[in-house]
Amino acid sequence: MVKEREYYNRLGVTPDASQGDLKKAYRLLALKYHPDKNPEGAEAFKKLSQAYEVLSDPQKRRVYDEGGEEALQKSGGAGGCFRNPMDLFNMFFRGGMGSEDAEEEDEEEDEEDGGYGFPFGRRGGGGSRRGRAPPTEHRLVVSLEQLMVGGYRKFRFDRKRPCTSCSGRGGRENAFTETCAACHGKGEKVSYQQLGPGLVEMRGTCVGCGGSGRVIAEADRCNTCRGERTVTQSKITQVHVERGMKDGTKVVLKGEGDQQPGEEAGDVVLILQEKPHQTYVRDGLDLHMEMKVSLSEALCGIRRPMTTLDNRNLTLTTPPGTVTPPGGQMRVRDEGLAMFRNPYVRGDLVVKFEVEFPDKVEADFISEFEAFFPRPAEDLEAPEEAEEVDMIPYDAPEGGEGGGGGRERKTAFEEAMDTEDGPPGCRQS
Ligand SMILES: [Zn+2]
Ligand SMILES: [Zn+2]
Repeated sequence: MVKEREYYNRLGVTPDASQGDLKKAYRLLALKYHPDKNPEGAEAFKKLSQAYEVLSDPQKRRVYDEGGEEALQKSGGAGGCFRNPMDLFNMFFRGGMGSEDAEEEDEEEDEEDGGYGFPFGRRGGGGSRRGRAPPTEHRLVVSLEQLMVGGYRKFRFDRKRPCTSCSGRGGRENAFTETCAACHGKGEKVSYQQLGPGLVEMRGTCVGCGGSGRVIAEADRCNTCRGERTVTQSKITQVHVERGMKDGTKVVLKGEGDQQPGEEAGDVVLILQEKPHQTYVRDGLDLHMEMKVSLSEALCGIRRPMTTLDNRNLTLTTPPGTVTPPGGQMRVRDEGLAMFRNPYVRGDLVVKFEVEFPDKVEADFISEFEAFFPRPAEDLEAPEEAEEVDMIPYDAPEGGEGGGGGRERKTAFEEAMDTEDGPPGCRQS
């Protein structure tokens, strides 16, 4: 005859229930009260978890049968040291508890209904308590050269993994627990968010205790993870940057991310960030560049060697007799970037030319030049009596029209102060 029936009642079984009966009952009720499915079920879920934890352990069950909850508390503090209900749930459905003794009789039954497959999670994304950690995002800076040719990149990142010192328990086995300070034992946290003119109350599972309201007592905490149950691990991995990927492309490293005890590891999502290139600007598959050419090249044709992003040597040429005006653009077919996973489709290279004019022209060259490029008619038709005035170069003042980076215009006095010797007249020795 058992002393108390409370734990059996929570599972809806009689005190002569077999381990198999307990498992079945727990499975049914845990799914019913799991907070993901039943937001009001947190308390019932916790109580159910405690009952199952005790009754599924033959030793604890014997203590409970003989002396009830009080006896449990006396026997090494078992009454106050329940597992986090979520952990128990995760372990149960992942088969973590199936390996414990007195379960052999159940083996066949498990097979019959396909085992206790994990009921939640695997739905992609999802919350952090759904059996899979949420994906973590990182930026990976890549050069245009790497995107042009593809290849492997080393990438180093930090991730959370279950602490191996304490097997993810956070403390020694049968550790005492204490009320979670973060939520005062309520298991949920209330925060307020500004929404329009008012504040909206937001309720969520407490991260500190995972919703159980209790954490491992300080003295019993694992020295490695300090009761966190996870440790931060530094990981270096090779990332395949494929040819034709671009700024913003996401590369997913499956299962390389954070992992909580009893959960599946989340993914790492790398978001590529294209490093600006000194020569090229990308526009879709096309590459744009600027090139300075001399006046003679602009008039007589261009022959310019260059190295491509994938390290080939080209000579850019214009057909003889082609004049390249300042700001003129030329296209080189198929010298742009290859399309992602379709390398036969390529963009073009577009070159914009800046023509460098000579500073001065020798006097005896002028007449020769004019033979080929006659003066405009206005010059010859200018009226005799018109007064000739000389023009000299004009440098637009900085910060004047057309920008200057918002710099303020200086007065003549300030300008004088800026010279190395200070304003004239102030020099003393
Ligand atoms: Zn630990
Ligand atoms: Zn808490």
